[in-house]
Amino acid sequence: MSTNETPAESTDFIRDIIREDLASGKHDGTVTRFPPEPNGYLHIGHSKSICLNFGIAAETGGRCHLRFDDTNPIKEEMEYIESIQTDVRWLGFDWGEDLYYASDYFETLYGWAEELIEAGNAYVDDLSADEIREYRGTLTEPGRPSPYRDREPGENLDLLRRMRAGEFADGERVLRAKIDMASGNINLRDPVIYRIMHVDHPRTGDAWCIYPTYDFAHGQSDAIEHITHSLCTLEFEGHRPLYDWFVEHLSVPSAPRQIEFARLNISSTVLSKRKLLRLVKEGHVDGWDDPRMPTLSGIRRRGVPPEAIRNLIDRVGVAKRDSVVDYALFEHCIRELLNKDAERRMAVLNPLKIVITNYPEGASEELAAVNNPEDPDAGSRMVPFGRELYIERDDFMEDPPKKFFRLAPGREVRLRYAYFITCNEVIKDSDGEIVELRCTYDPATKGGDAPDGRKVKATLHWVSAAHAVEAEVRLYDHLFEVEVPGADGDFVDDLNPNSLEIRSGCKLEPSLGPFVPGEQVQFERLGYFAPDTDSKEGALVFNRIVTLRDTWARIRKQQGR
Ligand code: ATP
Ligand code: MG
Repeated sequence: MSTNETPAESTDFIRDIIREDLASGKHDGTVTRFPPEPNGYLHIGHSKSICLNFGIAAETGGRCHLRFDDTNPIKEEMEYIESIQTDVRWLGFDWGEDLYYASDYFETLYGWAEELIEAGNAYVDDLSADEIREYRGTLTEPGRPSPYRDREPGENLDLLRRMRAGEFADGERVLRAKIDMASGNINLRDPVIYRIMHVDHPRTGDAWCIYPTYDFAHGQSDAIEHITHSLCTLEFEGHRPLYDWFVEHLSVPSAPRQIEFARLNISSTVLSKRKLLRLVKEGHVDGWDDPRMPTLSGIRRRGVPPEAIRNLIDRVGVAKRDSVVDYALFEHCIRELLNKDAERRMAVLNPLKIVITNYPEGASEELAAVNNPEDPDAGSRMVPFGRELYIERDDFMEDPPKKFFRLAPGREVRLRYAYFITCNEVIKDSDGEIVELRCTYDPATKGGDAPDGRKVKATLHWVSAAHAVEAEVRLYDHLFEVEVPGADGDFVDDLNPNSLEIRSGCKLEPSLGPFVPGEQVQFERLGYFAPDTDSKEGALVFNRIVTLRDTWARIRKQQGR
């Protein structure tokens, strides 16, 4: 073994299968793909598929394609095509030259449709969508054949060509594969493979007015691209016999092997593009990249580093059984990473002014503060200190209960990296609201320790009033107030009305001014934060990525849930 120790290789049933296929010589390389439909933004569920497909390709020296399964022009948009590429790249993966679109194969797929007709394996059906559904039968009853099922190939070919030529209206006719109306697998009961849609396609424009269904395009696109292992989620298990049937009955260039795995589900959120689109359209959130959204763009905007998502996916693993991952595990992965990587800074979110009466007026000094106690290489910085400071309003109580150890009248506490201070006087306005504290400091405690060994029970963070930069800070909570949104009713009714709290007039130490989106920082004692994309010089906006401790679990316990 070399001195460069290789990390233990993670494995799962899919990687086992692939390793066997390579060892047995069935394949001499792997080609996988991530196949999004461009009908919405990617969410954290998709990262499981992305990490799996790109991960396996990287581990086996293969390739992973990014392929847009863009067969439904009604729901698809260029905006989604672009956002998906941005998100996959941000997550840390690269498809190189291998960017494909199912729409590039429309002509080939159409040719295969004619091939099916010529072999007596497909027919044009004049039944309406409702009738087709009715004839299809149920899980317990077999389907009935359409009266058009036995059309001759010649007539079918003529009708399909006229469908393509635009002679018929939307929904007037469809092309169906002729398989088995009595099959126990409903997917095999003569599935529709082409439908008429007089709609422009984001990529092919008005070239087509008939479009293949997802089921007719997906497996064949894999075959065209010589995908060796087509990895998809469990809901496609029942479609596998259909994809295999197409591969058997068509002159496709390869036969990919489909393997299904369980979707990633996370508590207290929804992972479905349809539901996320509704949140956006109905204005429950501020767009796809709202930092409360489980979309990759929302998670990125909030400030979560992509590595935290990759770590979560690693930890969850790949299995065949569906399960729900606790949101707290995701937060744990974020904290674990940022505790190691994020520099510490001081910020006061709910400021209370204090005046150090024995500190010379107009004077200031710089005190050394450690950037990251977990990382000696991160060094230290200088933090300005002066006569007027801000501390957190919560860190003072005029009439403290027994267990409150922070600042109170007559009590001494430590200001981090600075001095011991004692509160002598509380100043209030005419409404009785505390507006200022008068304190004294002990110059001998510079750096935060008393030479005489006397102790204090609390260390507070603070910011110098003369040097502070102002910011708006956005505090986020779960987007939904229940673990399974929509479990009893409409998921929208389960939205958390307190998922966003905006604090304005927050006071930050000046070294936070230059932080930009994508850079994370710990505000001491408060949590991990990152600048929002709304942040501008002179009008800083920070997002709370995650608190330091798992408040959520505690709140839920208190609520007795
Ligand atoms: P949604 O249900 O959110 O609309 P989808 O499955 O329709 O998602 P696609 O664009 O078809 O979205 O998904 C692209 C790939 O990502 C598919 O292979 C799909 O199986 C996979 N995928 C989607 N959601 C998840 C998830 N929650 N966990 C793992 N893989 C997922
Ligand atoms: Mg899908």
